[in-house]
Formats: sequence, structure tokens, C-alpha cells
Amino acid sequence: MLPNIRIVLVQTYHPGNIGASARAMKTMGITDLVLVKPRCFPDTEATRLAAGAEDLIECARVVDSLAEAVSDCVQVVGASARLRNLPLPHFDEPDAMARDLVENAAHDPVALVFGRERSGLTNDEIRCCSHQVSIPANPDYAILNLSQAVQVLANEVFTAWRHRPENGYHPPRAPMDRQPTQAQLAHFHDHLGRVMRQSGFLTQPHAQTEAQLQALFARARPSRKEVSLLRGLLSALERPSD
Ligand code: SAH
Repeated sequence: MLPNIRIVLVQTYHPGNIGASARAMKTMGITDLVLVKPRCFPDTEATRLAAGAEDLIECARVVDSLAEAVSDCVQVVGASARLRNLPLPHFDEPDAMARDLVENAAHDPVALVFGRERSGLTNDEIRCCSHQVSIPANPDYAILNLSQAVQVLANEVFTAWRHRPENGYHPPRAPMDRQPTQAQLAHFHDHLGRVMRQSGFLTQPHAQTEAQLQALFARARPSRKEVSLLRGLLSALERPSD
């Protein structure tokens, strides 16, 4: 039903949570499940808790890193109960996130990413995201069970899809407006990092500057055309001038 919307679970500890997440997804018409290094999978507990969504478990793809799981996505929303220092665009309201995600999913793959039961997502993983979302909850106890967080956000996505004004018809986007994939953005940031080091602007190999610029471009949301313009500029700067 929502083929371009992917759910990514990062290093899930309890296989039961994978099964319960698959069930939550299927009830909301989402079927693309990607698991980043699950502790134990396949597993009978995952299949038992899927209860009718075993097909999703059988088709789930297992990958080694979050970057690999989302490389073809044009929007990657990390679900997190805590706010990080990294100034990524943040959705305080899941319904606003869901409307944006559904709109982007009309043209390209997008992902919703969930962290580990105990420690959530690392800062490096948050850096693979273009946005963050939090589910508003009791300030004294705001951490949901993983599969319940999947259920809440999957329901928001399904609701946004149902209420979509032009439900069913998506005119192709002009190339100007098309969002870059995470892989295209990663290549741009590698290129920018290389130029910053070669020019002597950056001296530390893992300077915070690179993370800040990454967050800046995540907020600016350049189109594919704008990213290729910036790459052209970087290439010109790399060429020795006569
Ligand atoms: N102790 C972890 C919580 C992990 S809960 C932490 O502090 O980050 C497992 C996952 O469920 C989280 O990584 C997140 O993806 C999701 N989750 C739980 N509660 C959430 C909330 N209130 N808003 C958004 N995502 C939430």
C-alpha cells in the first residue's frame, strides 16, 4: 500500500520487538522492513509476535549499517525520545512529519528509523538521518517500547496517506525539485570534506565543522540539481588555476 515507506530497526535486542513491529507495520499498510545488525534474527519469537505479519519477517532485509539501509532514500527520519545537540530539522508533531514523509514517498523511497531498546540511536546514526521526530509523551516517562513507537508513527503515516488531498495521483516532480538520495548527499559531503582539508581550512580529521555543515545542508534541503551545482563548484576549486 505504501511501497516507498521503509521502516529500519537498528540493532534490535529482543526478537519479539521485531515481530511486534512487523505486525504494527502491516496493520498500517507498510511492508518494507530493514534490520541493521539485529542481535538474533531469524528467531521463533519474532515470528510468533508477528502474528499474521510473518510475510514481512520473511521478506525483511538484514544489512550491516544504517548508511547501507537508507542509501537510496531521499528522506530519513530518526525517531528519538531525546533531543540531540546536532541541529537537524526536528518534527515536534508526528502528524507534520507524516505528511512530509508521505509527500516525498510519492516519488522516491523514504525511511523511518528506530534505535536500540536500551540506548536508542548513536550520534553517528543520527547523522545518517535528514530529520528527527519525537512522539510527545509524559515528560516524566516519555520512552515508548520500540514496537509501540513503530505503531504510533506508522499510524500517523497511514492517516496522512488517507487524508492526502490528491490521494492516488502524483504528478512527476520536475528534476529541479527532486531531493537527493542519502548516498548522493554522502558523496557531496565527502567531496566538501576533501576540499576543506586540501585547502587547509580543516586541520582535524574528524572536526565538528563537518557535522555542523552536514546539519546545515540537512536543514537547507538542496535539490538534486543544487547538489550537482555545488559539486561542480567544488571540482572547479580543486583544479589548479593557471
Ligand atoms: N533508552 C533509549 C530509548 C530507546 S526506546 C534512548 O534513550 O534513546 C527504542 C526506540 O524507540 C528509540 O530509539 C526510538 O526510535 C523509539 N522511541 C521510543 N520512545 C520514543 C518517543 N517518545 N519518540 C520517538 N521515538 C521513540
